[in-house]
Amino acid sequence: MTNEQVWQAVLGEIEVSLSRANFITWFKDTFISSFENERVVICVPNAFVKKWLEEKYHKNIISALENVAKQKIKEIIYKIELKKSGHVSFEINKPETKPETMEATEKKEVTGPAAPANVNRYGLNPRYVFESFVVGKGNELARAACLAVTNNLGKAYNPLFIYGGVGLGKTHLLQAIGNEVAKKTNKILYTTSEKFTNNYIQAVQTGKAKEFKNLYRNVDLLLVDDVQFMGGKDGTQEEFFHTFNELLQNDRQIVITSDRAPKSIPAIEKRLVSRFEAGMVADVGKPDIETKVAILEKKALEKGVTLEKEILIYIADHVQNNIRELEGALTKVIASHQFKGLTPTLKTVKEVLGDFISNIQTKSLTPKDIIESVGKFYNITFKEITGASRKKELVTPRQIAIFLIREELNTSYPTIGQELGGRDHTTAMHAYNKISHEIKQGENEKIKQEIESIRQLFNC
Ligand code: ADP
Ligand code: MG
Repeated sequence: MTNEQVWQAVLGEIEVSLSRANFITWFKDTFISSFENERVVICVPNAFVKKWLEEKYHKNIISALENVAKQKIKEIIYKIELKKSGHVSFEINKPETKPETMEATEKKEVTGPAAPANVNRYGLNPRYVFESFVVGKGNELARAACLAVTNNLGKAYNPLFIYGGVGLGKTHLLQAIGNEVAKKTNKILYTTSEKFTNNYIQAVQTGKAKEFKNLYRNVDLLLVDDVQFMGGKDGTQEEFFHTFNELLQNDRQIVITSDRAPKSIPAIEKRLVSRFEAGMVADVGKPDIETKVAILEKKALEKGVTLEKEILIYIADHVQNNIRELEGALTKVIASHQFKGLTPTLKTVKEVLGDFISNIQTKSLTPKDIIESVGKFYNITFKEITGASRKKELVTPRQIAIFLIREELNTSYPTIGQELGGRDHTTAMHAYNKISHEIKQGENEKIKQEIESIRQLFNC
């Protein structure tokens, strides 16, 4: 038997014990690359699949292999390797009716926190596509850039860097690129900077750094979500920098998202910032009321519900901050009406959303919130900002906090001084003037962007 025949037989055995969706998700594009002396190397298309096969299906695979090969298997190595055109690999057959025994075995199927049902084999949510993305003022530039990249992989803007506040559609756009490009190539890798970091550390620890490099450097499209978390992780940044260069040199596309502009990511190397800025940087902003209404209308329709315009406007008007909250409000409205068997009217919607909206809105901003947001942004504590230390890395954030409290809340200087650990009102005034001067003269573009990012933090 060739390796190929062995694997086909093994898959045949495994297939009957899983649902079709699971089977396809975890076993498509897998193949055996070597089978020698009770040792089998199984190749899988990505780290996500590798982990699942190792953790959830290892036993099934061993027993099927032993059955088919009629010998003991001592070791299985799961290796990430994309199918080359020469490789004969497993093809997914058309769905077919399963034997009746399926019912019983299907219940035993492995399910886990990774919720494989709503991600495809690249780890992308199939709902995040361009068709379901509503275009409006806040996001039209970012969307256009994403479309351009999708249609001219590696040639339009490389890298494309998308940034903006929480829940404004960055991940949706990033994955829409992936889902679209997946129609043309399977050399796609979607990752978050946390996953990249963890995988890298693990690869180094287990002596698999080379496999890691091969995996990330051999794709046509690399999508990295939430890159801001790479700040402060030096080894990871170094690896990312080299991955980045290698991909760019070969005209492979890179798309990155972040909650803030490249320059404002704390503790990130300068050379990475300049790489991030070398292609196109596009921001996503808050949606205007028309966009919010359009999004609500579309999402309601997706759920098979039509809502009166006045209801949509009411929800859009009262849920200010981001689209995730908007979706949350809509889900709540639809669910509670369906539950009671009611048709939504403005009056019933107001009742349903009462708490939800006041929870969002009574969070009216206080000086403390602003200080906390500043601290979060610079990764320093509330105590450090309001404390006595005059270290440079504390003084600027402190001045920014003062500036923002004055701008946002119009608080008097003596009160600001009090909030900042009992400082004199002249200190508050001086800090405010200094920052506002730097911004207005355009002297300090970095601070300006940082302040914008902090504003987004406390507005969310
Ligand atoms: P981010 O990554 O910026 O925090 P997400 O991409 O996760 O935000 O978006 C949050 C939710 O809002 C998702 O369910 C997404 O589908 C939805 N969403 C965001 N922007 C839009 C849009 N323009 N049209 C339709 N849905 C959107
Ligand atoms: Mg996101």
